[in-house]
Amino acid sequence: MGERSRQLFQEAARYFPGGVNSPVRAFGAVGGEPFFVAHALGSRLTDADGRTYIDYVGSWGPMILGHAHPRVVAAIQAAAEAGTSYGAPTELETRQARLIQVAFPSLERMRFVSSGTEACMSVVRVARGFTGRAAIVKFEGGYHGHADSLLVKAGSGAMTFGVPDSLGVPEAIARATLTLPFNDLEAVRAVFAARGREIAAVITEPVAGNMGVVPPRPGFLEGLREITRAHGALLIFDEVITGFRVAQGGAQQRYGIVPDMTCLGKIVGGGLPVGVYGGRAEIMEQVAPLGGIYQAGTLSGNPVAMAAGIATLETLQAPGTYQVLEAISARLAEGLAAAAARARLATQINRVGSMLTGFFTATPVTNYATAKTADAARYGAFFRAMLERGVSLAPSQFEAAFLSLAHTTDDVDATIVAAREALASR
Ligand code: PMP
Repeated sequence: MGERSRQLFQEAARYFPGGVNSPVRAFGAVGGEPFFVAHALGSRLTDADGRTYIDYVGSWGPMILGHAHPRVVAAIQAAAEAGTSYGAPTELETRQARLIQVAFPSLERMRFVSSGTEACMSVVRVARGFTGRAAIVKFEGGYHGHADSLLVKAGSGAMTFGVPDSLGVPEAIARATLTLPFNDLEAVRAVFAARGREIAAVITEPVAGNMGVVPPRPGFLEGLREITRAHGALLIFDEVITGFRVAQGGAQQRYGIVPDMTCLGKIVGGGLPVGVYGGRAEIMEQVAPLGGIYQAGTLSGNPVAMAAGIATLETLQAPGTYQVLEAISARLAEGLAAAAARARLATQINRVGSMLTGFFTATPVTNYATAKTADAARYGAFFRAMLERGVSLAPSQFEAAFLSLAHTTDDVDATIVAAREALASR
């Protein structure tokens, strides 16, 4: 790591646990120390030592237009000049809601919050309040933010650190969260047969992203829809990553399944802190001030964040956007697969649209257990070799790489050359 980044990391450790404000940023899963970012533009990040990287983290998903997109920057500047927060309604919230609803008709009513965690935490309360039931079903390796009910067998940082259940989550709360293997409809049928009357909702990432990318098996999402409906439980799609990522209308559009409730985040904030939860009007009308389910926020619907989100969603409406993302992402996936084959390394490249993970394993990855067969140490070595060659991947085997509209074929081809070298030099 560069000298300046090293100094900044040491200084940051005096203020933040592990020197960071979100655990995976500390590079614990891949070894070494993180670079500190000075600025970013398009597909590139520049660190505090002046080194530039092709970025496939994309702020963990939001930066689908690339960094510092001129239209988003201009929208943020204009909004800020009109004041940064009022605690009163604005037209911007309605404009952003309209753009979201055009893409996600299932969000008949919605609420803006300030993070994906807050969206998922709130949607669980709504599901419990609406159904009068307490239990929640989630899938192993599914991450839905760090609310108590959802931090049980979660992926992402929790998975990497081998601490699936955080200290501080009361057992009584964890007990109401039933975890099942992803892509296993038989397990879902069995749990509903045994405890169907207790279950308020099934929450799932429709395409898993937090154990690395794992697509739903054909029929899995359809099965969840049928089973939940038959038992009077709600189906919640956590589309915090997949919303406006795997299609304009997210996984629910891509796979043609209509959930009762949906969580969004990341892209809808255009790089500023925004989460959204919403769904059927009948359910959402139980939320305060109309109904008895309480949820509120000082900065909810923040005008600067709304302006960034509007500029992002409007830009994504250009014809051909998702075909471009598909093509550039397929090129990267094919190039990485070829590089691995050349190095005689068994890998699984899982990709849905512009999110992908290359797992170092010979086993097809379809759930948390098979994801865990990947060689995380080998990924760590690969990650560090790529970083040395100016490519920034997610600092964990169990995360997605994200492409943006700013990634060019030259970026992708340079990445593939770097991967070939990195895999050959092991
Ligand atoms: N749900 C999913 C699917 C996520 O990937 C994340 C974050 N990576 C969250 C929820 C939580 O969002 P946030 O980090 O904004 O709280």
